[in-house]
Amino acid sequence: MEEKSKKNPSSFAQQLETLQAAHQLRVLPQLEIAHQYVTVEGEKMLNLSSNDYLGLATNDSLRNTFMEGLSPEKQLFSSSSSRLLTGNFAVYDAVERLLAQLFGAESALVFNSGYHMNLGILPAISTPNTLILADKLVHASIIDGIRLSAAKCIRYRHNQYEQLAQLLERYHTQYERILLVTESIFSMDGDEADLLQLVALKKQYNHVLLYVDEAHAFGVRGKTGLGCVEEKGCIDAVDFIAGTFGKAAASVGAYVICSAVMRSYLINHMRPFIFTTALPPINMEWTHFIVKQMATFTQQRQQLEQNSAYLRAALLAKTGTCISTSHIIPILLGESEKALMKAAELRRKGFYILPVRPPTVPEGTARLRISMSPHLTEVELQQLVELIIPH
Ligand code: PMP
Repeated sequence: MEEKSKKNPSSFAQQLETLQAAHQLRVLPQLEIAHQYVTVEGEKMLNLSSNDYLGLATNDSLRNTFMEGLSPEKQLFSSSSSRLLTGNFAVYDAVERLLAQLFGAESALVFNSGYHMNLGILPAISTPNTLILADKLVHASIIDGIRLSAAKCIRYRHNQYEQLAQLLERYHTQYERILLVTESIFSMDGDEADLLQLVALKKQYNHVLLYVDEAHAFGVRGKTGLGCVEEKGCIDAVDFIAGTFGKAAASVGAYVICSAVMRSYLINHMRPFIFTTALPPINMEWTHFIVKQMATFTQQRQQLEQNSAYLRAALLAKTGTCISTSHIIPILLGESEKALMKAAELRRKGFYILPVRPPTVPEGTARLRISMSPHLTEVELQQLVELIIPH
């Protein structure tokens, strides 16, 4: 067998060896999480790679309060069915009603994950007469959704709205519908789309719909944590506000805020909604519990921003550049090997910051991706700055 894999250059084993040689092989880490720490191979480190942006997922008192208030008949670990069959437990509708109310919107629809959501919505609403204009840096789940859709797609240069305006001008007469797709806070660069510019662009045409992935902004941005759309005051102008529960909301699943017609349309057309077992009711209970009090996590939001601003300012002062404007702060290192070595050095000093390598990010832009935490103390922040940006 081994002999064969060596001879055949396209064998799976050989491809893995190639990845290994390029320092791009992915392996699953064995780890334990406890509060803001992660323990890997006996080493306890500060976890700066988690999307638990507000620290809610490891908050014991929140979890205890939830469990104490949860009556036994609600402690269900399986929905045992798709929502269209017998899986539509009342708590699903409760979460959707709550979201619609918080956003002041007509409707919300909940999905099993952000991946399901992005994979499913774009194909469901596209035809060959649809043009998708998507930012070059949108998440893999959006790209996969585009691939599955019948639409034509053009990716515009990252946050380059002049180019986007030109594309709209050029193509608007040729398509029945145009979908503008962006993230609000970009997952790998931590920079932001200009939502107000996008809204202004979309409003110039009556057949353009705006789709904003708020995965990294829900819980973090806006006065009550509803995301960048709340922060910028444009909730009503975005056709699809797509967010996830697996990050700051400390749960699992995703939601879209949309019109009542669109909700019904998706229930009828969106395959990753229709053909999957609904999330366990207990998870939806927890989502409801967290989202209901999202507005109250102001202190965590402020601390997260304070810590992030400190690191961004230090990065800017010492290196002259900082692309991030958020709590996701990349340290660009170039080659994968360099990112791996820096990550190993930081681990030895007590900081768990994972390297992100191609193909997740473009070739030559391997990086350490810091997910800031509200738990970091001033001393820890200073240590971190010293380590990632040596004099
Ligand atoms: N959108 C973005 C921008 C993301 O970063 C992610 C996950 N990292 C997703 C969607 C997918 O969400 P989920 O993890 O809930 O599948």
